[in-house]
Amino acid sequence: MTKAIFKFNSGHGALCCSGCNIIIKEAYRFSDEEMAAMKGEGELEAQYCEECMNKNKLTDKEWVELTKEWCKRYKGGKHQRAGQAYMNALFKVNKRLHDKISGTENDCFYDENKIINFIRFLNK
Ligand SMILES: [Zn+2]
Repeated sequence: MTKAIFKFNSGHGALCCSGCNIIIKEAYRFSDEEMAAMKGEGELEAQYCEECMNKNKLTDKEWVELTKEWCKRYKGGKHQRAGQAYMNALFKVNKRLHDKISGTENDCFYDENKIINFIRFLNK
């Protein structure tokens, strides 16, 4: 799971966007779940600002991670099909985009012919 990013400024915690790193919430507005995650007492998945939420593009860093994760799963690794390995790798690298793609014409889990859609979507 990609975890939420926290930042500390002169003792005050803040939750940052996992896409562009801007502060999206100050600690005084945190929910119990967010507070626990900041203290390391719980898990919180990656959070995004509104702008990043509407973007489909993977960052350069995420492409590198996706490629590494893909290699681990494809033949020689866990022997997954290419499309299956891509979707599983995306789940690990960017769950938000995985969930957005899942079940659409860009979901290549069961259909190798959709890998091209998958790649085009994530490059938009
Ligand atoms: Zn952002």
